[in-house]
Amino acid sequence: MSTPRTAPVARPRRLAAAAVVLAVVAAVLTACGNSGPRDLLNSIRSGSVVLGTKFDQPGLGLQNPGGAITGFDATVSTYVVNRLADEMGVPHPTITWKETPSAQRETFIRNGEVDTIAATYSITTNRMKDVDFAGPYFVTYQGLLVRDDAKNINSLSDLNGKKLCSVAGSTPAQNVKNLLPDVQLQEYDSYSSCVEALRRDKVDAMTTDEVILAGYAKRWPGEFRLVPMTYPSDVCVKDAWKTAGTPFSTEYYGIGMAKEFPNAVAQVNDALTAMLQVPAGQQYSPWEQSLRDQLGDETVDDMIARADAPGSKYVFTPKPGDLSFLEAPKTPCPEGAE
Ligand code: GLU
Repeated sequence: MSTPRTAPVARPRRLAAAAVVLAVVAAVLTACGNSGPRDLLNSIRSGSVVLGTKFDQPGLGLQNPGGAITGFDATVSTYVVNRLADEMGVPHPTITWKETPSAQRETFIRNGEVDTIAATYSITTNRMKDVDFAGPYFVTYQGLLVRDDAKNINSLSDLNGKKLCSVAGSTPAQNVKNLLPDVQLQEYDSYSSCVEALRRDKVDAMTTDEVILAGYAKRWPGEFRLVPMTYPSDVCVKDAWKTAGTPFSTEYYGIGMAKEFPNAVAQVNDALTAMLQVPAGQQYSPWEQSLRDQLGDETVDDMIARADAPGSKYVFTPKPGDLSFLEAPKTPCPEGAE
């Protein structure tokens, strides 16, 4: 018969040591913000918020050498939290910016490391399984950036066999994998490393949202050319009919937030709607003014002209709170079409 095992008797000193270890683990988890999703409204009330954005995207979210964060995404986030604070009658909160790379955004929100993320973050059904979105607060389209001397890439149909870079965890990279299987896609961690690969001739083109590409083109004048990514002729793509000139993909930017606090999402939508209103006596809404300040009048005027053209397939003014684009029906392909 084997001797029955007895549970070891915990000695007081061991118990004390275990308690210390537990306390340290809890402190580390809290320091990492790993304490569950954050409620933006609570954070504003408590006086400090953690806002996620990109740190390397000129015009959108950029960390300047002194550490300050500038860009349209940063301005939109700041407007929203300050307006909500005004409505609650509390002081504007202290903002801590957190860099939120494309592939880590859902995790940062779910783990409570940020209150919100405005980081060129497209609203998608897939992401909405994990997080919620206020918005859309901006609409852009997938495009291509090539070196100015590269004459061989002028449309979507010139990409077969080419080396294209994009970023892991981004919708443009996913779109290329789904719809352009003959392209050699290289996925980087950030757009700044992707654009560096393009500058050094390591890839033929870079793909992501046009507004991001425009920021890099402006950062290095004369080095790059923007190529629109529209279907050059009518085509049937995975059972959906795309007429010539249809954008390859439309990206609706949202402010990513925890799913647990729908009231906060509704209030952010109200703040975004307010940002889109033109105040009496002003030429532009704070939203358009920020776009103009960050992207330049020429870029914004081009976007407006494109959206206003007769029969345009482009949008300029977003409608916060309207997510109907997620359910937009596909146009079926005509019989026999390829
Ligand atoms: N808007 C796209 C996305 O959310 C591309 C930009 C990005 O990676 O931040 O994936």
